[in-house]
Amino acid sequence: MENLVQIYTIVCCVLASIILSLIIYRAYKGIIKKENRQYIWLIEGNWYVKILKMLFGLAMLVAIIFAPFYLQIVSSFKSFISPGVNWLLLASILLLSGLECYLALSVSNKLLNKTYKKVVLSSIVLVLLPLALQCIYYMPKMFTYPSQNECNSIDLPVKGKWLAGHAGGNELVNYHCAYKAQKYAMDIVKVDEKGRFFKGAGNELEDYFTMGENIYAPVAGTVVGLLDSLPNVEVTLTTSDTVNPAGNHIVIKFDADRYLFLAHLNKGTLKVKKGDKVKQGDLLAQAGNSGNTSWPHLHMHIQDKPVLDNASATGFPYRFSKINKKRWFSWASVINGFLIRNDIFKN
Ligand SMILES: [Zn+2]
Repeated sequence: MENLVQIYTIVCCVLASIILSLIIYRAYKGIIKKENRQYIWLIEGNWYVKILKMLFGLAMLVAIIFAPFYLQIVSSFKSFISPGVNWLLLASILLLSGLECYLALSVSNKLLNKTYKKVVLSSIVLVLLPLALQCIYYMPKMFTYPSQNECNSIDLPVKGKWLAGHAGGNELVNYHCAYKAQKYAMDIVKVDEKGRFFKGAGNELEDYFTMGENIYAPVAGTVVGLLDSLPNVEVTLTTSDTVNPAGNHIVIKFDADRYLFLAHLNKGTLKVKKGDKVKQGDLLAQAGNSGNTSWPHLHMHIQDKPVLDNASATGFPYRFSKINKKRWFSWASVINGFLIRNDIFKN
């Protein structure tokens, strides 16, 4: 795990260095040596170059708007790198995009006179513009989630400060959405004051703050299925127990055709048995790392069948009756809130 942190940190720092070098180069060429440039509205004719510059500027404008959303909400590596590296990458992307937006208002003499320069810019626009249009299309989807009357209202299954690794109503922020039965499933990990979810190298189960955390009933209902005999698997970046993907788990029936699953629980920690009636907030078990899992986390989802069956079951959305969450800079107390990737939350 330490390797993963190092890889992400190095990749982000290298990317930021490349972008910062580009900023210096572009500022030198476009601002310091600006005598070689002229504003696009002063150019006679040459509509092709004018349109190219405007499309390029538009793509850069989209980058300015999209980058904070991507780095703060969509990116899966955010929880592995320090906030400082994340901000460095974001700041460098914003600076370069801002500079390019400004430079899009002018044209260098080379671009006006040299064919190869036009070919290069045309190719860049051909790549960037579809990407920008895709960003515009996908951005609102990060936040789309079924309305309150389509959701089951439940309690948080944990106490303390946690992070949503995969959660939300769209594949952009939640890989579970690709599977019909687990459409609104969430994977959450406990974090410390600094927002890290493991200490040290992260190679041992005990390094993870999630390991052994108490799990409470989010709904009142009847325990209709459970497993408590599987060992915790080692920390791994590949698949582990694919035969028992949920590992040790509890299934609570809380409504007609509504079953809540809590998965990857710690062996031998289940406090309930089949047929038990539970009420919201009852202690159920401890979090662990059993089943098909990379590191200790809690998986939770609601579906309409009592067994884990991707082929015929349908997943259902849920909201938390009361939750404190931090998505950008500050905490907010939310009634009937939902989580998306990278949200930090507590009850
Ligand atoms: Zn999961």
